[in-house]
Parts: sequence; C-alpha cells; structure tokens
Amino acid sequence: MRRRDFMGLTAAGVAGAVAPAWQQRSAAESHGHGTDPDLVVLNATVYTVDPGVRRAQAFAVKNGRFIAVGSTAQIRALAGRSTQRFDARGMTVVPGFIDCHLHPEGTTLLYEVLVGNPYEVEFVTIDSIVEKLRAKAAQTPAGSWVEGFFFDDTKVKDKRLINVHDLDRVSTEHPVAVHHRGGHTSFYNGKALALAGITRDTADRPGGTFDRDGAGDLTGRVTDRARDVFDTVGGRPVYTAAQTAEREQRGLAHISKQFVRYGLTSVHHEGGDLSMLQDARARGELLHRVSYEPDDAVLEAMITGGIHTGFGDEWVRLGATAEHTVDGSFSERTMAMSQPYPGRVPPYRGNITTTQDNLNAWIQRVHRAGIQVNCHANGDVAIDMFLTAVERAQRLFPRADARPKITHCTLINDDLVRRIKALGAVPALFTTYAYYNPDKFVLYGAELMKRCMAFRTLLDAGVPAAAGCDFSPGPFAPLMGIQGMVTRTGWDGTTWGANQRISVDEAIRVSTLNGAWASREEALKGSIVAGKLADFVVLSDDPHTVAAGKIKDIRVVRTVVGGSVAYQG
Ligand SMILES: [Zn+2]
Repeated sequence: MRRRDFMGLTAAGVAGAVAPAWQQRSAAESHGHGTDPDLVVLNATVYTVDPGVRRAQAFAVKNGRFIAVGSTAQIRALAGRSTQRFDARGMTVVPGFIDCHLHPEGTTLLYEVLVGNPYEVEFVTIDSIVEKLRAKAAQTPAGSWVEGFFFDDTKVKDKRLINVHDLDRVSTEHPVAVHHRGGHTSFYNGKALALAGITRDTADRPGGTFDRDGAGDLTGRVTDRARDVFDTVGGRPVYTAAQTAEREQRGLAHISKQFVRYGLTSVHHEGGDLSMLQDARARGELLHRVSYEPDDAVLEAMITGGIHTGFGDEWVRLGATAEHTVDGSFSERTMAMSQPYPGRVPPYRGNITTTQDNLNAWIQRVHRAGIQVNCHANGDVAIDMFLTAVERAQRLFPRADARPKITHCTLINDDLVRRIKALGAVPALFTTYAYYNPDKFVLYGAELMKRCMAFRTLLDAGVPAAAGCDFSPGPFAPLMGIQGMVTRTGWDGTTWGANQRISVDEAIRVSTLNGAWASREEALKGSIVAGKLADFVVLSDDPHTVAAGKIKDIRVVRTVVGGSVAYQG
C-alpha cells in the first residue's frame, strides 16, 4: 500500500503544479517566448529513476523544473529561439544526489588544523600530525587548546594509535586534542588530562571510557561521553558576534561549493545556524538545497511554536530532528551490540549514551509535536531501543506516515527489519564507508559484516534505505558511496558483506529518490520526471558500464540545481 502510494506520487502527483501562474507569466514577459523551455539537454543517456520510464535521451527545463522527458527528437522539437541547448554527446545524466546525514562543517575545513584528508583515502604519519600541531601551538597562548581534526586511526602509516606521549611532544604547556573524524573518540596529551583531573585511578563514566594500556596507564584515548570532562577546562578562542558570523558565512559558502563539486544537490544538514543558512541563500552562496535538521533552540521553538516538519520551501526546509544519539560509533568501534566485540578482553559491548526512559520521553514529545524524529542508532541494541520508543509513541499518539528516521541503522537482524518495515521507518545508512573503511571491518569480522550497512536486506524487505555518509566521519562523494554499495570492496581490495551488494540502479535510487522520500519531498525531487525540480548531474562515464571498481573515478562534469549550473568541471 505504502509502496503504491509512493509510486503514484512520483509519477503523477505534481505534474500539474509546475509553478504558480504569476511566475510563468512573468517569465513569459521577460523572455517574450512564453512556451519555450529555458533549457533542453539532448543526446544524453538519462537514468531517470522513474519506474515508469527508466531511460531517456533528453529532457526540457523551464522555471527550474523538468517539463518534458523523452527522445532527443521529441525534446529538440520543443526548443524555441530563446532555449539554451546542451548537447551531452552521449554522457550520462542522473538525478541530483541526495545525502540524508551530514555535518556541514565548513568552518572546520577552512579554519582548523586538518590532520587527515577529508575527501579521499590518504595515509599520514604520526610525525606529520605532531608537526602540524606544533606549528599551531607556536601561535597559541599557553593554557589554550591546540586541536587537530579529521584524524583516522586506520589511515596512519605508523600502524598504531596516536597516544598521550605523541601529543606530549606537541606541547606540555597547552592542552592538546586530536579528534577522530568519526566524532566519538579523541586523543589528549598529559596537560589536557591533568587540567581535567583525570588520572590512572579515575573511573570510566557512564557512556564513555578513559582508555588504559596493559599496565593500567592512560593512553590518551577517551571515548564518547567521557570527553565531556574537557569541555570546561583550558582556554578557547573567543570570537565577536561579527567574527563568528563571518566564519560561519565563509564556511557555508565553502562547503556548498564542495557539495556540488561532487554532485550533491540536496543535503540533510545536522543543525548549524539556521539564520546563517538563510543569509547564505540570500547572498546567492547556497548552491545546494537543504533539509535542515534542528536541535536545541530551533527544535524547542518548533515544539513550542507549533511548527511541523516540512515548513520552509524548496531551498531550505525544516526536516527531521538532528540525530538524537542512542549509542556510539561504528567506525570507532563503540556502537552498542548485543554480542561482545570480537577479541576484546574484557568483553566490551559498546556504549549506550541514553536510557530507554529518557529516549521514550524525548521521542514522545517530538513525535507528538508533529515533528519527524531522528535518532543516531548504530548497533542492534540501539536500534531496538529506538524502535521500542517509537512503537510506544505511536501506541500513545498514533500518527499516519510519520517516517521515523534512523541515522546509520548499521547492524540489523531479521526482527529489527520487520519492525522497521512495520513502522515505515526511514534508515539512512553509511555509504562511502564500504570503500573508505575496510581497514576497520576486520575488527567486527566477516559474520557481523554480513548484517552491517545492510542495503540488500532492507531493499528486499521494501524499506526505502537512503544514503547518509555522515561527513565528517565519512567522505561525502556519492560516486564513492555507489561504488561501495555495488562492490562492498574497500580501497585495500578486501570485500566485506558481499551478501549486501546492490545493483547500480538500486544504488542510484538509494542516493536520489530514497533520499527525497526520507525528507518527505518525493513529490518534488529525486527523479527526472516532468514537474519535479530540475536537479541533475552530468557524468563523464556511465556507472553501469565502467568497471565497478572505477565508479568512484567517474568525473562530475556538471551539477545543475533548479535548472541553473551550480558546478562545471
Ligand atoms: Zn552524524
């Protein structure tokens, strides 16, 4: 039933609502050719992601929307004197890519010390990290933090974890932290540990650990909630409101350019400053569309002000909530599992970062307010807690088609899949990890990896799994994600969970239309269909015909949002 509704909407639901009449009329007046398309794309291999007409050669765009899709001859016949013509010369066109879980940390990219490569697989040395942070320390007052970002523990040539002794080489006067790109673990020097009063005798905290070596000494690695102790110690830069605004502005403009460079036309933003986002749009610096996922003050304002998910327009719209975290990290091996991590002594089952009671209360409140709930749940234990809370909220306050969102939804089993399906939940799975993180999967082992990032299982169950790269933890290149879904083979040539492979067509759908469904915008975007927003990507090669291991190397030739070129390669 749900599936049929979905298809019906995408095929025909919006065909009659192309644009308000005044807009068409004013466009006609300005062009003097009222019925001419603004743009036609001809001689392309178009994968529409429309189950009705899966392939086409050409399409026409007017007022930012597709108005016709068909053969080159049919579409050429529509073109008028004022129509722009784009001859794709056989290149491939797909709908604009949609990523449903991403932290748009443009300011980190622009202003912070990056100790790893945000975009690609690249190995670094511990010495290079120490050097970069020393340079930063030289410009930082003693007692203030020196921090490095985008560390990846399995992209280190030294083949070991960075530790407190390495970071003591940076400085003994400054607190020093290296943050894992995954966002759940950090590494500290002796000064930082001392400022926070952490010694080898300090007990772990609920939801986090101070890691120790075989002799019981602190290694400097601190996980999840235990890192809270560092929030209130050490000096941090203080910016004026104007400086903060400028940093945010530049950060947003920067990351928007990166998104369209890789073919992303819609991104679900985890929080961030909503007014900055609107300013960026007003200045013409927002090149991609945003499903804004609120937390804290904005979420409270929605609840108290009676604002539901969906408020906004086709550029900036209020989406599900920001991820409410239930457990730890997949890539950093702290997610909450029902079985212990292979080989860990003493047995370790990961971190749960909330209680069932607190989760029940949060979900009930948000769900009742007409807002799409969204929780970060990686391990099977956390997914079970999330589903339990949503099932309870639905029993108490039934709401049709609520589409509760599960960010990550990494480790599943048959019972969880049945419950996900029954609730109509929308999971956003890691995408680029399959290529980027094979060096971590060995720590879970072959058996568990058969049930992780389970695209095949979820799609077969009729669950519209979507893409959620989770940048900064994962690179955001959609083509790297698609290659990973299709091959399950990593940069190192190892394959994990081959049973979860999906086809190229399915991977494109996951990365486009399923993302639109997750933000309740399937009538508006996600496929190349007359009436929908003209968001599309021109690719140098066809992912269906290149070797599967080369999909990530396909070039994005052009990214078009609302009929306008946002990126040209
Ligand atoms: Zn996240």
